[in-house]
Amino acid sequence: MYEQERKDLVEKLRQKGIKNERVLDAILNVERHLFVPDVMKPNAYKDVALPIGYNQTISQPYTVALMTELLNPQVGDKILEIGTGSGYQAAILYYLGAKVFTIERNINLYNRVLKLFDELQLRIAVRCADGTIGWEEFAPFDRIIVTAGGPEVPVRLKKQLAINGTLVMPVGDRKSQVLKVMKKLSENEFHSSEIPYFAFVPLIGLEGWQEK
Ligand code: SAM
Repeated sequence: MYEQERKDLVEKLRQKGIKNERVLDAILNVERHLFVPDVMKPNAYKDVALPIGYNQTISQPYTVALMTELLNPQVGDKILEIGTGSGYQAAILYYLGAKVFTIERNINLYNRVLKLFDELQLRIAVRCADGTIGWEEFAPFDRIIVTAGGPEVPVRLKKQLAINGTLVMPVGDRKSQVLKVMKKLSENEFHSSEIPYFAFVPLIGLEGWQEK
């Protein structure tokens, strides 16, 4: 279903500057319509963020593709995602051969995703918790991706990133963020770059924003 729509979406992402063929292949093969509510399915292959309930969104495909390209996941990498949401970004990383660990704070989204991953036979570890504290038992992670915007990169996530690992996270105020890309050079040294501007839902938690 929706094969032509997915091909058209890949072409659009190519035109917008996504170059990594593995990432484009993942977008072509992971069925985004399975991750959105039924009423949203006809819009699943438009390059827009869509509501998934509970005031949350599935990110725009361009943003998912860009963050994945920046993360540059390799087969076998252990990846931590904060903000499971619909499960789509986690499914893209899994498709690319990563061992995926993902944390969602909203219990309803968590329960929905557990069922969906089971139905789709995606072997992805999901936890319902505040992701700003990370997932210590499985650290260090080769890659960490945060899909909600926070005031700064949580210290615990920086600690749980492996040396030579990459972290991608939207950082800024509640309305607008830059995508921060950090490479861990040593225990206390990072190389950082930033891409402006994005608008993510807020990262709520101990090292994020406080709930309003
Ligand atoms: N990656 C998601 C996808 O593919 O659909 C996009 C998710 S949405 C933009 C961000 C998610 O982060 C929301 O589901 C929200 O509940 C979750 N979130 C916000 N703060 C969090 C926290 N501290 N820990 C875990 N999840 C959090």
